[in-house]
Amino acid sequence: MEEGAFGGSGQSPALLAALRGSGVTPAWSGPPILEGIGLSRHFGGGGLFGRPAVVRAVDDVSLAVRPGETLALVGESGSGKSTLGRLLLRLIEPSAGDVLFEGRNIGLLRPAELARLRREMQVVFQDPLASLNPRMSVERIVGEPIWLHRLAPASERRGRVAELLRTVGLPPEQMGRRPHEFSGGQRQRIGIARALACEPRLILGDEPVSALDVSVQAQIVNLLEELKERLGLTLLIVAHGLAVVRHMSDRVAVMYLGRIVEVAATDALYETPLHPYTQALLAATPASSPHARRARTLLQGDMPSPVRPPPGCHFHTRCVHARPPCRERAPALEAAGDGRRVACHFWREIAGAGAAAVLPPSDALVRRLALFEAAQRARRAAP
Ligand code: SF4
Repeated sequence: MEEGAFGGSGQSPALLAALRGSGVTPAWSGPPILEGIGLSRHFGGGGLFGRPAVVRAVDDVSLAVRPGETLALVGESGSGKSTLGRLLLRLIEPSAGDVLFEGRNIGLLRPAELARLRREMQVVFQDPLASLNPRMSVERIVGEPIWLHRLAPASERRGRVAELLRTVGLPPEQMGRRPHEFSGGQRQRIGIARALACEPRLILGDEPVSALDVSVQAQIVNLLEELKERLGLTLLIVAHGLAVVRHMSDRVAVMYLGRIVEVAATDALYETPLHPYTQALLAATPASSPHARRARTLLQGDMPSPVRPPPGCHFHTRCVHARPPCRERAPALEAAGDGRRVACHFWREIAGAGAAAVLPPSDALVRRLALFEAAQRARRAAP
């Protein structure tokens, strides 16, 4: 199911199911590999003065992942993106809603079936050091899933580990070492090799590069892209900011306080962001060119507490375009053409007014660029 085509925030699983059978044609009609329908996850806890507090980490979200695509889930800390990723892989149980893998409701699977399915969906975690057992050698770390899922006889296991290490760009001779003997980027490669050992069809990257040095991030992003092409993987990437995912994702879903506020093809989202929150996230992203300086729609204040989210549109307390209806009614995730969806009452006029969302460079910047280019020309012309 295409998220938003059959609803999104605010629509019940029953309605979604009815719409699915109604023949409504989504913008993209191929069967998804993974599908969340009306997913919610609420965490209970003790509040102040003994009052119960419920954290609505994910609130009635529907999302479909297409086979072979890279879908990025993006948002600030507390937006619910990691929780949604884990719900989709059934690493945590939803408070409401269903997850379908190739049309099968994985909440209804027997434990043995679920264990088999787990092989198909693997995770690469944010902190490779914390996710790798420090007492185990790389050979054991990468070889364990092969043994657990009986993917190769014992005599072939070492060869498989060597092949996997080569695949992620690590020398197989180092398989006897332990994780602490590797750099951060190499440890992340070990984590990727371990995920690949299960021969998965889908990998969730839970902020896979955010704990790495900037110089290493691009290498891991390139590796994931290359593996996706070579092995026909589907990638679900959870990321804090939009900069990391631009070059590796086919679509981006932007989350705010447990809900998806915009989902679109990557180029469309970066070129013409429709939701004010997406616009603000992009404004905070360094532009790749000085000629593409973005409007300064900077975010005001902090994200509100998910224990008591603002009524109506959750974003209204920080939105520069907020008006009275925004405080009263939650916007639905509605179709905005070309398969994109946006949850904002006023996205049409904001998009119209935002045609100049990319500001021309200032006069001072133009002068500095002209001086720089003249100096470059002079240097090239010098004997
Ligand atoms: Fe802003 Fe209102 Fe749109 Fe929410 S619905 S993003 S508050 S304009």
